[in-house]
Amino acid sequence: MKIEVNGNRAGDKDSGCALCGATWGNYYEEIDGEKLFFCCEMCATGFKNMIKEVKYRTGWKAIDNLSIEGNYYRGRTCVAENEEKRYKFYLKFDDNAKIATFEQIE
Ligand SMILES: [Zn+2]
Repeated sequence: MKIEVNGNRAGDKDSGCALCGATWGNYYEEIDGEKLFFCCEMCATGFKNMIKEVKYRTGWKAIDNLSIEGNYYRGRTCVAENEEKRYKFYLKFDDNAKIATFEQIE
């Protein structure tokens, strides 16, 4: 999965946390057979919840590209792509990295 956070590549130690882009921390989680870097367990949990929700709503088995814009306070506007299909959504997490708001945009 190719991940972009606020316009920059993310998901490994050099590029930053797959959810928030932070380069500190040291937490890895395997998602869809890929080892992704996160700054903390909270971001990893949020990311997993987001992927699960997108797959559930779209019926996709995998996400090829994921672009994330925003942060915890503003919420995040994201675009997920699977082959030529595109799914745009807005989401906001609560304090426990559970999804508090999820809206499909287009
Ligand atoms: Zn993070």
